[in-house]
Amino acid sequence: MNKYYQKDLYAILGVSADSDETKIKAAYRKQARKWHPDVNDNSQESLDRFKEITEAYEVLTDAQKRSQYDILKGIHSRKETVYSTQTQAKKAYEKSNNTTNTTASSTKKETSTSQKEHKENDKSSFSQVFESILDGIFTSGTEPNNSNKKAKKPKPENGRDINLNVNIKMSEAISGTHRTVNVLHSERCPKCEGRRFINGAKCPLCKGTGEVSLHKKINVKIPAGIKKGAKIRLANEGNKGYNGGKNGDLYLFINIEENKFFKYEGNNVVCEIPITPFEAVLGANIDVPTICGSVSMKIPANTSTGQKFRLSGQGIEDQKSKKKGDQIVTVKIEIPKELSNEEIKLYEQLKNLSKSKIRENLIND
Ligand SMILES: [Zn+2]
Repeated sequence: MNKYYQKDLYAILGVSADSDETKIKAAYRKQARKWHPDVNDNSQESLDRFKEITEAYEVLTDAQKRSQYDILKGIHSRKETVYSTQTQAKKAYEKSNNTTNTTASSTKKETSTSQKEHKENDKSSFSQVFESILDGIFTSGTEPNNSNKKAKKPKPENGRDINLNVNIKMSEAISGTHRTVNVLHSERCPKCEGRRFINGAKCPLCKGTGEVSLHKKINVKIPAGIKKGAKIRLANEGNKGYNGGKNGDLYLFINIEENKFFKYEGNNVVCEIPITPFEAVLGANIDVPTICGSVSMKIPANTSTGQKFRLSGQGIEDQKSKKKGDQIVTVKIEIPKELSNEEIKLYEQLKNLSKSKIRENLIND
């Protein structure tokens, strides 16, 4: 749960709990002028205060969030009702208890006192100057603020890394490939420059998030012999850094799609190949597909289902040692699907000729 539930958001803005949106907005503007890090001393304190008032403003100007907050804080007894208008909420509030009023008004006093002090410390048209500074900050889109030159240099912010999964076919993994990947970047909103608010209202472009998403296409070379799970790093292709901070990196995680025929086992390629009963009995030279084309493989006479053969050097090249793996071929005897009458007759002759009793010793042992 967010920490704001533990705070008195009304007191933070210096308003009473029955204030309408206009009042809250006005109060926020007032506070923002005071605590905005750029017009202030850019200290951690003003930064924290600014964050706090902005959070309070966000919650209290969102009807649903405000209603939830009020319920949790026990401000109104309006558990079932989500008020559609501020007037309704106000009426209901007037009927309900007044306990929060005391806190709110006492904070109000504090706020106005500190504001008074502030004014006294400075020269005549202080508030006017402030007004103009703030209007500049809150409205400035792309132009840097001129009144802001004295502010401390902002801290460098490094851009975040971006991770992306890329699926490639096994044939692409073997021979290498190129991919144009669409990378979703998050960038500082150009309208509010990451400040999230313009004139106290949520920025219409980023909707108060301070960031916008944009797609960038990048062409990537995927080297030959890449393995499943390999990580390709593209330096500086992550999210933008700010104030002299570094850009993030882009990481591509390679997934090699399963292939019906070939499977990977380390650098070896594994496959199963069907042979006919007569190839199994008589032996044969058969064509076997490999990841680099077809090769001829010798099946010796009397080969059984499940027997394995090794095609040396037909596997994946190791990226470091440059040594190639093998292809492991497992044979499986398969009956041809369509047999002619003549073939069946020949099988019948074979059956009559055969003296083999292959099931004789099944249970003796
Ligand atoms: Zn924005």
